[in-house]
Amino acid sequence: MNDTHESLDGLRFDNSYLRELPADPDPDNCRRQVFGACHSRVEPEPVPDPQLVAASGEVMELLGLAPSAVEDPRFSQVFGGNTLLDGMEPYASCYGGHQFGNWAGQLGDGRAISLGEALGKGGLRWELQLKGAGPTPYSRRADGRAVLRSSIREFLCSEAMHHLGVPTTRALSLVTTGQGIWRDMLYDGNPAEEPGAVVCRVAPSFIRFGNFQIFASRKESEPLRALADHTLRRHFPGLGQPGPAAYVAMFEEVCQRTALMIAHWMRVGFVHGVMNTDNMSILGLTIDFGPYGWLDNFDPDWTPNTTDARNRRYRFGFQPRIAHWNLTRLAEAFVDLVGDVGALEKALDGYVTAINKHHWDMTMAKLGLTGTKRDPGDEALAEDMIALMVAQETDMTLFYRGLAEVDTHGEPDLSDEDLTAPLVDALYDPNVLALGHREALAGWLRRYAQRTRSEGLPQGQRRQQMNAVNPLYVMRNYLAQLAIDKSEQGDHSMVRELLDVMRNPYTHQPGRHQYAKKRPDWARARPGCSMLSCSS
Ligand code: AMP
Ligand code: MG
Repeated sequence: MNDTHESLDGLRFDNSYLRELPADPDPDNCRRQVFGACHSRVEPEPVPDPQLVAASGEVMELLGLAPSAVEDPRFSQVFGGNTLLDGMEPYASCYGGHQFGNWAGQLGDGRAISLGEALGKGGLRWELQLKGAGPTPYSRRADGRAVLRSSIREFLCSEAMHHLGVPTTRALSLVTTGQGIWRDMLYDGNPAEEPGAVVCRVAPSFIRFGNFQIFASRKESEPLRALADHTLRRHFPGLGQPGPAAYVAMFEEVCQRTALMIAHWMRVGFVHGVMNTDNMSILGLTIDFGPYGWLDNFDPDWTPNTTDARNRRYRFGFQPRIAHWNLTRLAEAFVDLVGDVGALEKALDGYVTAINKHHWDMTMAKLGLTGTKRDPGDEALAEDMIALMVAQETDMTLFYRGLAEVDTHGEPDLSDEDLTAPLVDALYDPNVLALGHREALAGWLRRYAQRTRSEGLPQGQRRQQMNAVNPLYVMRNYLAQLAIDKSEQGDHSMVRELLDVMRNPYTHQPGRHQYAKKRPDWARARPGCSMLSCSS
């Protein structure tokens, strides 16, 4: 079972979610409210011409598939939604959620169809889920499909996040469907036909906060308990037999994992964009890559999501607080299971402690201050750095990479110009240097250099440590958009190239300088680069 399969027929399935949880008795695939059930059986709707654009070698390996398995002519048929392999039993999940702070009732997999749980390498279980595979009972007023542009963004970003060391769902494949679909991308009354695509997402499970919330909101205690027991047994083994104590332990673990995930988002400059509770994974994985974005210039108030432009609920700097709000909504769904509100509140406090600790540790690591020694001035040092980045548009990614190059040992003898030289490339407008910003930067760097020297690390080692936590290549919005522009013209080379670049985000890759460059001016206000809607 654990060896590598040359053929897709080697995949084995054990569909525990389907088997262990209450099913929707109605086989009718029409849009409706589904009560008392975790899932509805539904077949992917065939597409005219599925063509494989790219596959992730690492995910193939997880599944125990040899690289040659992509040569199988059925690959694009299966992962485009036209064919099922033996053992696949497709279904859509029922969940609800708070959207932008308001309870939205039933949502569910409106365009995601799970094929089953593959048993991969080491017997690990991987749910395979097609996104954009056609309508389900949860499709509400939408078509169940996904456009190529959003599919490229999800495919590339999930793999990029993994290689960055951020907990995330994965993506096996990206397949174009040969079918046009209509979208009003900017919601301005100008719909256009766009190419459709299907991404096969992969995760131990796609269970969300909202899967629990929907039952709690409807006072359906039996399916709620069944879901909690299933999640506990399958995904949190070791927390004990199902019962109030184990449910509390599971909630604590969700809080802890969520804290770690969010801290990583803050470390790499990722803005999810739609942190609704239906987009929060119970496993603490980054899930549902929609109008996400990456910080180019460091701005805690930035959100890529135009739908959220007014309130900026999901802006970069607010993500830790929103996660707490979302966890509180999950806690409410756990109250009936657990009975002990105090225990849940304690777990929520644990989230706050954990996110603060992770965030601080990661901030120090980004600065190369990883020694055990703590300095009372560290907090002010970090805060002043942030203030400098915000004061003049500064590329977050390039700033930290540049910081690793600063000659902290030679600092006392260096001119301001020489000291700040490694940071110049991170500035969006280098003219600000002549307007006092050089002195401000140099002043901060001298404090930083002094503090760094107190750690006693050789420069080379400091650089190496910093570059291991500060990526050089991130899935910049404009890079994804360039790849999309080409793909929409039928040239998928850049999608494949970016997939490869993002496999080693911390390592300088000769000849790939263009993927580490800050946002060009043309991308500042272009839709897809800095402004994304939920239309996908
Ligand atoms: P999202 O904003 O992507 O998290 O989606 C919120 C809800 O809308 C989920 O229930 C999705 O399954 C559903 N949804 C989004 N797009 C579509 C679509 N094109 N067809 C059907 N359902 C969709
Ligand atoms: Mg979603």
